[in-house]
Amino acid sequence: MSSLLVDRIGRLVSHDDEAPVSDAALVVSGGRVVWSGSRRQAPPCDRLLDADGGCVLPGFVDSHTHLVFGGDRAQEFEDRLAGIAYTAGGIRSTVAATRATTTAELAARAARLAAEALRSGTTTLEVKSGYGLTVEDELRCLQAAAAVTVHRTLLGAHVLPDGTSAEDYVALVAGPMTEACAGEATGVDAFCETGAFDAEQCRTVLTAGVDRGLSVHVHANQLGPGPGAQLAASLAAASADHCTHLTDDDVTALRDADVTAVLVPAAEFSTRSAYAPARRLLDAGVVVALATDCNPGTSFTTSMPFVIALACRELGLSPAEAVEAATLGGATALRQGDVGHLRPGARGDLVVLAAPSEGWLAYRPGVDLVRSVVRNGEVVRNGEVVR
Ligand SMILES: [Zn+2]
Repeated sequence: MSSLLVDRIGRLVSHDDEAPVSDAALVVSGGRVVWSGSRRQAPPCDRLLDADGGCVLPGFVDSHTHLVFGGDRAQEFEDRLAGIAYTAGGIRSTVAATRATTTAELAARAARLAAEALRSGTTTLEVKSGYGLTVEDELRCLQAAAAVTVHRTLLGAHVLPDGTSAEDYVALVAGPMTEACAGEATGVDAFCETGAFDAEQCRTVLTAGVDRGLSVHVHANQLGPGPGAQLAASLAAASADHCTHLTDDDVTALRDADVTAVLVPAAEFSTRSAYAPARRLLDAGVVVALATDCNPGTSFTTSMPFVIALACRELGLSPAEAVEAATLGGATALRQGDVGHLRPGARGDLVVLAAPSEGWLAYRPGVDLVRSVVRNGEVVRNGEVVR
């Protein structure tokens, strides 16, 4: 079994209380972390990755993306820069473009974005459907994501398609669509928002997913106050995502129900919206995750380093808190216990920075500080060479 020694680690962020923080080394074998400790005690290994005194982090876990879509919305973005407000209806233009794109092309586009994400250190990601809005097209979107990730979420209740009533469409999503798509998905999601779906409609859709064994996620309280966070809590959801407009009762409900708050500050950056109350959530004891929300309308970035920089600058998180949210927090939102940390037994997913600490991700925003990426124990990026 081939082993990899990551040596000369200047600073090790492992989320492992037993591991050293500085002057460390780490061994991956069989795709798993098997050892970390002082580099002077490192065992011999088959292969070497020299961290050159840089900071080593767990691979990023991006727990909220919409990577499968056709077309782009660059013009809408420029209109927004000129002062036109974002509404949930903008999703419909991507629906038309997605329906007109073959499944093979959707898969190829998603794979390109996933490769871009991997280059910046994302070793685990979630992908939602939600731009098909028919049984056939939602199924195609989930199938297109299959080569990219196991974490696939049915988001049939993204926006009401043209030419149907809310009542009929919710019945379609909760019935035939969930039945057809459950085998291709691990989660179910709904956009609980004015202009999208109300709490009862979302509850109908999400409950149908629960009945099929899917984990629950809710697009909650993005554009204004609303019932999304409370709905997520009442369903013991894995995550409530966005969480921009929360009352104190919402925060308490999320904490008491162990719902991870997935914050997506790149969406707020792109739409020039208020940022989520990350400090209130953390101080109340809610588990916080950071994600890109990568989508063509409101957050067309795959970069977790950018999201970490925003979290430090705009959400009031320390670099250590931001990295924890972008790794362990994401893993909690996806209910996957072997990623997001580097304890023995963890998947061999890690990032080597060309910088001495994680704080440099915010200190040097927009600069590619990822020197190496390891996924499943394989070096998939080293310097400028990307495999
Ligand atoms: Zn989203």
